[in-house]
Order: sequence, then C-alpha cells, then structure tokens
Amino acid sequence: MSADPKFTKIRSELDLRRSRHLYRSTRISDSPQHPHMHIDGKPLLAFCSNDYLGLANHPAVIQAFQQAANIYGVGSGAAHLVNGHSRPHQQLEEALAAFTGRERALLFSTGYMANLGVVNALLSGRNDVVYADRLNHASLVDAGLLSGAKLIRYPHNDTTSLGKRLLAQADNANTQLILTDGVFSMDGDVAPLAKLAVMARHHDAWLMVDDAHGFGVLGNTGAGLVEAQGLTPTDVPILMATLGKALGTAGAFIAGSHDLIEYLIQTARTFIYTTAQPPAIAAATLASLQLVQTESWRREQLLALIQQFRQGATQLGLPLMASDTAIQPILVGSSGQALAISRQLEERGLLVTAIRPPTVPDGTARLRVTLSAAHTATDVEQLLTALAQIWT
Ligand code: PMP
Repeated sequence: MSADPKFTKIRSELDLRRSRHLYRSTRISDSPQHPHMHIDGKPLLAFCSNDYLGLANHPAVIQAFQQAANIYGVGSGAAHLVNGHSRPHQQLEEALAAFTGRERALLFSTGYMANLGVVNALLSGRNDVVYADRLNHASLVDAGLLSGAKLIRYPHNDTTSLGKRLLAQADNANTQLILTDGVFSMDGDVAPLAKLAVMARHHDAWLMVDDAHGFGVLGNTGAGLVEAQGLTPTDVPILMATLGKALGTAGAFIAGSHDLIEYLIQTARTFIYTTAQPPAIAAATLASLQLVQTESWRREQLLALIQQFRQGATQLGLPLMASDTAIQPILVGSSGQALAISRQLEERGLLVTAIRPPTVPDGTARLRVTLSAAHTATDVEQLLTALAQIWT
C-alpha cells in the first residue's frame, strides 16, 4: 500500500464510507436485462431495472440494432455536427418529435449530458435563476450548479414555496428556469405539472421536465407524464426524456419548438462536443418506439403488476411510499438495515438494490423495487413472499 499522503486520504474516505454502510460496488451480469438474470454467477430474480416495458431484450429491437450495425458499423465516429449524424439518428429525432407532439427533437448521448447541455445553454450568468425541486435527479442538480446561475432548491412538489421564491426574485431575475423530474426517480411520485406550468407562465420562466421515468410508460399512448396529466407542449416547452429506461436502449432527447432545438444545436456544449450515439442504437430505439406505440398491453401489464405489488405489500404492512408508478420504494431509514434486507432478499434469490445517501436524503435509505412488463404475477408473488418472511 502506498504511503503517499494523497492516497492515505482517499483510503480513509473509503473506510469512512464502509463504516457508514455507504460503500458501493458494481456487480457483474452475464445476462441481458430481464427479470431472470445471472449476476455474479448466481441466478437472481431482479426488481431493480429501469427496463419498465421489457424492451431492452426484445427480438425486434435486437434485430434492428444488428441490421443497422451491418450498414453503419459500430461507432458513429464523430459528433453530430461533424459527420456523426446518420440517417437512423435523423429518423429517430423526427419520430420522437411526432410522438411527443413537438416541432423538433434533438438526440443526446446520455440523459445526464442532455440535462447539462440544455440548462447551460439557456442560463449564463448570476442574474439567471434555476428553481429545482429538492428531490430532482443529480444530473439536474449538477446542471444548475454548473450553469453559474443562482440555484434555488424548493421543497419537494411544494408549489406554494416555489411561488414565494419566484416572487422574491421577481425584480432582479433575468432568465428563469423551473426544473423538475416528471416521475421522481427514487420516490416514484410525480410532479404537479399543471400547477408548475401556471407558475412558469405567470413569472415568464421556462419549465423543463425530465421525464426519464415517465416516457414510454405513462399516458394513453406512452408519451409520458405530460400526456398523462393532460397538458400540452405549450405548457411544458422543454421536455427531456431518456432512452435507456422504458425504451430499453440508451441515450436521451430534448423535444421542443423549432427555435429551441436550433438554439441548442448552436449552443449546447454536451451536444456539440461529444460523439454521437452509435447509429445502431438509434435504429434499435426506432424499433422500440414502434413497440411502445403498438403494444399498449405492456403498459397494462405493468399497471396490473403495480397494483398487485401495492396490494400485497400493504397487506403485509410494508412502508410503501406514495407512488402509482413502476418505482415502488420500501422506506427503511437506516442504510445498514436497508443493506441487510437487500442481502436477505438475495439469499432468497431476489435482487433489489438498497438506495442510500447521498442518492436519497439522510435517514431515508430504501429498497427501490421497480416493476417491469416483463415480470409475471408469479414473480411479484415470489417477491412478496420473501418480503413477508424477512419483515416478520
Ligand atoms: N434523469 C433522471 C430522472 C434519471 O433517473 C437519469 C438516470 N438514472 C438520468 C436523468 C440520466 O440519464 P442517463 O442514464 O441516460 O444518463
């Protein structure tokens, strides 16, 4: 072991994390995303994927990926604005714009990059203000911090507090942006978009919704939370969604007006200065978008499983959170206890990750159960049986 004090310092930080049950490590999977996985050499029934519709491993999606790889190769080779923008990218952008009812859409290589890119393109200085829900995803928090604008975090889904903060800034704010998750990634509840849209309009602020966990899943056609809550593109002028969750592939997009997208193409640094996602990913996403639109039974199956899980867990007296979505966390509190329950589940062949600070606030460690249309009622029954044994 190195005696270099720099390393001594990072080793003691690692030790501290271990002692607080906050240490994290990766697991090795030898199987595709599917409820029945092979992880670290063990068969496990997984309840922690964001593959909400079971499309990550769909034969039509795989085939589209393979065919495009045969034509376009593996890598895109360059950024979109150089020569990395292929026909599948263009087709996907057009399909995403049409599906979300917007004039244009713009692909980003990841959701993290999309959030950094938009916020930093729109806000430039100290007189600009970002209002962010306290439980927003880390990428939205980082986007606000990096922008150099004044970052004001408001209590979770508390539009009254947000209103007070907007009023307090009214006289000296330049560009203002209200930023919120659509479905909150670690809680599963949803943002009150109608109220936020009214406030944004009233204060002449942008409203941007990160619908990473709603896109594909919520709304009659799967267009996401904006559709589910009966809002229009004018209400939510900046929509962000990721493609690595319900769509089962990778990457993200921003959908909005022609002017917004043109502005992002000129100014969003995480669009301009990064390699385009592989064309085969775009082709695979086009195939999965088609399945989202044609196979509504996947959303129905998911909804039935959510209801089954909530009913069973309520009967067991488990501390569920107020969520109707595929994210069904069980609140535990202490990180050590959440880890211990996760381990006990694993001994019974089930994989549910313990989510701990700083991903969630201190004292709110939880088991983040996620459901997928690829699960069966028997899978959910198996999870409930194991939870019943552990909880008693
Ligand atoms: N926003 C939210 C709400 C997310 O949950 C995630 C991913 N966990 C992201 C953004 C980042 O997306 P990506 O994984 O594509 O970088």
